[in-house]
Amino acid sequence: MNLGLLETTLNSTEAVVEFCQERSLLPTSVACPKCQTHCQLKKREQVKDGFAWRCRNSRCRSWISLRHGTFFMASKLTIKVIIKLIYLWAFEMATENNVRRECGISSSHTITDWKNFLRDVCLDYLRRHPRQIGGPGHTVEIDESVFNRRKHNVGRLVEPIWVFGGYDPAEKEGFLVTVPNRNAETLLPIIKKYILPGTTVVSDCWRAYNRVGSEGFSHLTVNHSLHFVDPITKATTNHVERMWKEAKQRNKRECGTNRELLETYLSEFMWRQKFGHNPFVSIINQIAEGYPVGKELLSTSSENPLLPTLPLQSVENLPVELKINIDCSLPPFKHY
Ligand SMILES: [Zn+2]
Repeated sequence: MNLGLLETTLNSTEAVVEFCQERSLLPTSVACPKCQTHCQLKKREQVKDGFAWRCRNSRCRSWISLRHGTFFMASKLTIKVIIKLIYLWAFEMATENNVRRECGISSSHTITDWKNFLRDVCLDYLRRHPRQIGGPGHTVEIDESVFNRRKHNVGRLVEPIWVFGGYDPAEKEGFLVTVPNRNAETLLPIIKKYILPGTTVVSDCWRAYNRVGSEGFSHLTVNHSLHFVDPITKATTNHVERMWKEAKQRNKRECGTNRELLETYLSEFMWRQKFGHNPFVSIINQIAEGYPVGKELLSTSSENPLLPTLPLQSVENLPVELKINIDCSLPPFKHY
């Protein structure tokens, strides 16, 4: 689907509702939050979405927003604009200029919020679907790297952010995770968490890796002061280093360098490795998975119908004030 086709697909309020219902972004049935009676979807010209739910109970007859209990709820943008923005983001076209032109959003704050939110969707997805990489017969290259050397912060002390990563070149699978430091006490538990026992782990000669061989892995090292491929074992960390390069380029483009943001940038990076071949459909499906809609959701939110019941505990950058703290370690990704 290209942007023109998307525009045609979303050419009326009916079409927008249908598009969202087919993709489980909007519910197809709703129980009234006040009396639990089944509601009917009705045209309502005076609301932005053009439709709202109407309670069938003759003593209630409440109108319920189309967005009630959905991830659209926290936004003032039209649903069509939100879908277009998601499309631009999915295909890496969501520059501020493009979003202003294609979506008519003038606030850069809103644009940033939405991009942060979509990165959080990536992070949530990867957390919900964690997996270990490697295994017997597999090689996983590991390495650690600093991410926040900012040239324009001259004169200001910037705390380095270490990122630790592993990559299985045969499976094109990897993981990236921020770490407080690069001691053995920090790195060994992460190695065991993300890499399957029996894997051949390849690293440079950093001393924190000395014990890897006694933790259930075969361990090969490459002495980078001598060569990049060990002449005898052929061990190399070239692939994991290429992963750094790509991740850093992206991070630089997006100018995110604080720890919290970096974690979401890393997850977007991993997410794109995995879903870059089909990004729009994937992100839409994952939003639907992360923000399930339907009767259950609405009937449980009856205490305060103005607040959506958020199914996930990690909507850190949900546009507007619905923020809950999240714990930060990233699961592995897989290239396709
Ligand atoms: Zn009612």
